[in-house]
Amino acid sequence: MSIAENIKNLNRQIEAAAQRSGRDPSEIKLLVVTKTHPVKTIETALRCGIKYISENRVQEAESKIPFIKEHFEEFHFIGHLQSNKIKKLMKLNPALIHSIDKISTAQKLNDHLSQLQKKQDILIQVNTSGEESKFGIEPNTTIDFIHQVSKLPNLNIKGLMTIGMFIADEDVIRKCFRTLRELFEKIKLERIPNVEMKYLSMGMTNDFEIAIEEGANIIRIGSAIFGQRNY
Ligand SMILES: *Cc1c(COP(=O)(O)O)cnc(C)c1O
Repeated sequence: MSIAENIKNLNRQIEAAAQRSGRDPSEIKLLVVTKTHPVKTIETALRCGIKYISENRVQEAESKIPFIKEHFEEFHFIGHLQSNKIKKLMKLNPALIHSIDKISTAQKLNDHLSQLQKKQDILIQVNTSGEESKFGIEPNTTIDFIHQVSKLPNLNIKGLMTIGMFIADEDVIRKCFRTLRELFEKIKLERIPNVEMKYLSMGMTNDFEIAIEEGANIIRIGSAIFGQRNY
C-alpha cells in the first residue's frame, strides 16, 4: 500500500469512527508521527494533504524539520522532553508540546521562553495506564500539577495527552481514554486561570478508533501511514 492510499483509508476510518460516536470528523486533528522516517518520506505525506507532523526526539527533529521543503502547518513535539534539549526544541517552533509531566522541566521551559519573550502552548501528559514504564502524571495528582504549571506565565496549558495501554483488550484501552476524558471535563469545571481544556490528544495506530469514540480531538498516527518502523 502507498502512503497516499494509507492516508485515504485512514481518513475513511476516522470519519466512520466520528460518525459512530455522533461527532463531526472535521474536529479531529490527524497528527502524523514522522519519527524514524526520512525527510523525503515526510514530504510525500505532506503532498497527500497532511498538515500536522510530529517527532518524539529533539535530536532527530532538528536533523529533519528545518530541511522539509514541502509546506506544513504545524510541527508538534510528542516525546519526553529533557531539560537540556529545551533550547534546541524551541528553535524548531513547535506549535504544541504534548508531553509536559515534570515541574522542573516546565519551569526551565518557562524561563527560556521568558528570555525569548515568547509563549508556548503545551499539553500535560497523564499516565492513564498505570504502567511504570510510561511517562506522565498520575491521574490523581494531575489537577494539583496543573495548578502549579498554570502559574508559569509563558506556558499556556491547552489540554491533556495520554498513551493508551498496549494490549489487545479493548475495554482496558477504553478505560485509559475514558480516564483522560473525565479528567479533562473535571479540569474544565475548575476554571483555572491560564488553563484551557481544548485538546484531548489520545489514540495511535492500534487504538485511534476507540480514542475517537471516547472524545479525542488529536490522534497521533505513524505506522498506519508509513508501515512498521525500523529503528
Ligand atoms: C510513536 C508514537 C505514536 C505513533 O505510534 P503508531 O503506533 O506508529 O501510530 C504516537 N504517540 C507517541 C507519543 C509516539 O511516540
